[in-house]
Amino acid sequence: MATNESSGPANVDISKINVGQGEGYDKKCIFCKVANNEMGTELLHVDEEVSCFRDIKPGAPHHYLVVPTRHVGNCKSLSKEHVSLVEKMVEIGMEILQKNSVLDLSDVRFGFHWPPFCSVSHLHLHVLAPASQMGFMSRLFYRPNSYWFVTADQLIQQLNSKGETN
Ligand SMILES: [Zn+2]
Ligand SMILES: [Zn+2]
Repeated sequence: MATNESSGPANVDISKINVGQGEGYDKKCIFCKVANNEMGTELLHVDEEVSCFRDIKPGAPHHYLVVPTRHVGNCKSLSKEHVSLVEKMVEIGMEILQKNSVLDLSDVRFGFHWPPFCSVSHLHLHVLAPASQMGFMSRLFYRPNSYWFVTADQLIQQLNSKGETN
């Protein structure tokens, strides 16, 4: 007997995971395909949690994208429990820079485009270096404290405070 439950204000399900090729894979998502090695894109790093590859439109001499290997939506859909994931993404970004001989880790830009300014809904951390060599348009496009780009530090702060107030 199928009774119609009147669904109360349940917890918001942030992970609308499409089950395509396993959990956390969205077959319509380009970054899912890249992380799943279907696009012929060179993966500079891949593990269960995080993958990294080059941005096809580099905004600086070094421009990498670090993404969760599973589809977790954009930065607006994150909650406090994703802080460790974001921190891991930053960590891998730092590692990739070092592997590619970027020595000055203070002259870098790490951040996320804020919806609706994301072209891809799959969470992706932009890692750019050296920040001082970014062109005019890139400075604008990846501008910290703008309403379209949030730095990794800011996002982590936001996520942490989310948990405390709610
Ligand atoms: Zn995806
Ligand atoms: Zn972006």
